[in-house]
Amino acid sequence: MIIVKAAAVTLVVGSLVWVEDPEVTWIDGEVVEVNGDQIKVLCTSGKTVVVKASNVYPKDAEVPSCGVDDMTKLAYLHEPGVLQNLKSRYDMNEIYTYTGNILIAVNPFRRLPHLYDSHMMAQYKGAAFGELSPHPFAVADAAYRLMINEGISQSILVSGESGAGKTESTKCLMRYLAYMGGRAVAEGRSVEQQVLESNPVLEAFGNAKTVRNNNSSRFGKFVEIQFDQRGRISGAAIRTYLLERSRVCQVSDPERNYHCFYMLCAAPPEDIQRFKLGNPRTFHYLNQSNCFELDGIDDAKEYVATRRAMDVVGISSEEQDAIFRVVAAILHLGNVEFAKGKEMDSSVPKDEKSWFHLRIVAELLMCDVKALEDSLCKRVIVTRDETITKWLDPEAAALSRDALAKIVYSRLFDWLVDKINSSIGQDPDSKSLIGVLDIYGFESFKTNSFEQFCINLTNEKLQQHFNQHVFKMEQEEYTKEEIDWSYIEFVDNQDVLDLIEKKPGGIIALLDEACMFPRSTHETFAQKLYQTFKNHKRFTKPKLSRSDFTICHYAGDVTYQTELFLDKNKDYVVAEHQQLLGASKCSFVASLFPPLAEESSKSSKFSSIGSRFKQQLQALLETLSSTEPHYIRCVKPNNLLKPAIFENKSVLQQLRCGGVMEAIRISCAGYPTRKPFDEFLDRFGILASEVLDGSSEEVTACKRLLEKVGLEGYQLSLRQGIIGSTLDSILVPITGIAAALLEIYLLSSKSCIGKTKVFLRAGQMADLDGRRSEV
Ligand code: ATP
Ligand code: MG
Repeated sequence: MIIVKAAAVTLVVGSLVWVEDPEVTWIDGEVVEVNGDQIKVLCTSGKTVVVKASNVYPKDAEVPSCGVDDMTKLAYLHEPGVLQNLKSRYDMNEIYTYTGNILIAVNPFRRLPHLYDSHMMAQYKGAAFGELSPHPFAVADAAYRLMINEGISQSILVSGESGAGKTESTKCLMRYLAYMGGRAVAEGRSVEQQVLESNPVLEAFGNAKTVRNNNSSRFGKFVEIQFDQRGRISGAAIRTYLLERSRVCQVSDPERNYHCFYMLCAAPPEDIQRFKLGNPRTFHYLNQSNCFELDGIDDAKEYVATRRAMDVVGISSEEQDAIFRVVAAILHLGNVEFAKGKEMDSSVPKDEKSWFHLRIVAELLMCDVKALEDSLCKRVIVTRDETITKWLDPEAAALSRDALAKIVYSRLFDWLVDKINSSIGQDPDSKSLIGVLDIYGFESFKTNSFEQFCINLTNEKLQQHFNQHVFKMEQEEYTKEEIDWSYIEFVDNQDVLDLIEKKPGGIIALLDEACMFPRSTHETFAQKLYQTFKNHKRFTKPKLSRSDFTICHYAGDVTYQTELFLDKNKDYVVAEHQQLLGASKCSFVASLFPPLAEESSKSSKFSSIGSRFKQQLQALLETLSSTEPHYIRCVKPNNLLKPAIFENKSVLQQLRCGGVMEAIRISCAGYPTRKPFDEFLDRFGILASEVLDGSSEEVTACKRLLEKVGLEGYQLSLRQGIIGSTLDSILVPITGIAAALLEIYLLSSKSCIGKTKVFLRAGQMADLDGRRSEV
């Protein structure tokens, strides 16, 4: 018989294996011939392939067909095994799976109401983590209990690509936390109700249908729930990040603008009349796309529901009227078109229709119609000696109109967030909080602009946090306990962060410089980048391009187009717009444009969106660092947004980008569960009572107990060479990581004894608990 070693495992004819497949990524089959290091495999698809032994992975025939609820229970931890496990569970509507402490959630794209009802919540209340099926409730429960018992603030970080289910998971977590921290008797508008009802309000104004998700959040969100000493919710704060402003005036088919616009067009007749609205098809800001309705969504009902949610979060009905008046004004504003005026390069509202809408805008915003026209068509330039009025040509006037629409909408959104925060209220005495982060995942499209740049910066930062948490915490603990642990290396992404964020000299700093220098163009900016970073190993200039640049992110290379970087980084209110709306007779509108400090009101002073975002991220990371993190990785099983379709290729890509493969590796290589000697003996002494005769030290008793239950510890020896530079290897050569995973599996021991604690591998605690209950 010919025997070869493939990926550290012995293969013979008849062995079940996984081989790479261009279509389904991995396919299973049976070895039919072994010839040197060439293996012939008969795949389950009927195809026969000949592959190199090192590219073949053993398939565990023992895995139950329904899969296992924790990846760390898999005998063979390689990509095909992980993928197969997720898929077989998904096929049975088991959408949640653990990887140690990380929850992987695969979007079912169908409602599974029984999974989230109050009966379910009651079950998870207080149940040990891992005892019940994987679920966001279990994560929330673990966080809540840690907070109560240990007094440590917690955070739950939900990540994944657009449409993967982050927002749905976040809502589910919030519902559970409200359930745990709510009052037995609802007292009118309770804090927890307000916290929950903030979701529909923010979704109405910050979510839209995109090609990736019918209800895509166009902003990032961190909700911090504060608890009092008795574990009751006592306050909350919502922070939002980077609302996508361009959508207000630019929608590409078949996407939609923000939901609130369509809801308002479907409002009851009296509101329609009041705001002079009508069919959404008549508005330029909506009819650039042919999509107006959403399957299964009744905008009229949503309007009523949004108003009801606004009631709950403490927005008065006068304020609601004002909010929707502003939303209506934006729609009318979009219908104002411009034509050439009498003067050279000047512009005027194009026709009677444009005048009609302009007058309605003035009426709704309660500002002077002439001043409104001027603010759109003219610019006043104040120099030292004189004041010059400059006309805008029709094209520039249209841009001015869009700028006005965007600034009004973004101020409105910020107002909503502030209002919700002030009406829920903060608890200054709260010492414990649970933060839930719902923020955009890594993005890499055909064209990537400033938004993707910011989003990917976010993900680099979160990845670093994740790395630090998972790796450093683990290693520190082992070091403290003097366990021999040949340190697993990880490629730190600090160099990418420096490339982007370093001050001075990073990309954001150079972008700000370019924005402040009047003669810069995206091309001069790109040239500057090429010069500065020509030797940076995370930066490249793509061949054949004069203004694109590529960053080598932890999750892969992304090429950015710099064309709109300068424009998109500039945040300023045109002075004329500021004056116009600051003087509105409507106090709500005026409050959106508070007077500026003397100095900045003179010119349209530039402030940098990139730098501000960087600071916001810094603050977020500081908050997160003071908490104990929990992770939920959402996975989108297909791009059709349909149930029951599981596309291996795309899922695998997401698992790699989200660091899931990496996390699996770590949590399996290490000992995720640990107990001090005395607690361990208290808990499991019953399994071998003879070790508790009091004649030996605790450490010896623990060793003997472990031997009795068949979990005696071997020396753990992870070979650094094999699994070094792991982040690189999860991205490119699958062979590298798969081989490494196997090595870890084969070399790692069952348990380990430290200086003060027993360290157990994933799943062992549950196993011991199970045996204890049988005694
Ligand atoms: P984005 O980044 O675009 O905001 P997201 O990750 O927040 O995306 P969600 O809006 O949470 O994605 O989910 C997209 C859609 O998938 C939901 O509108 C819903 O139809 C479906 N979905 C997600 N999670 C679940 C779930 N647990 N049960 C049922 N349907 C779900
Ligand atoms: Mg979302």
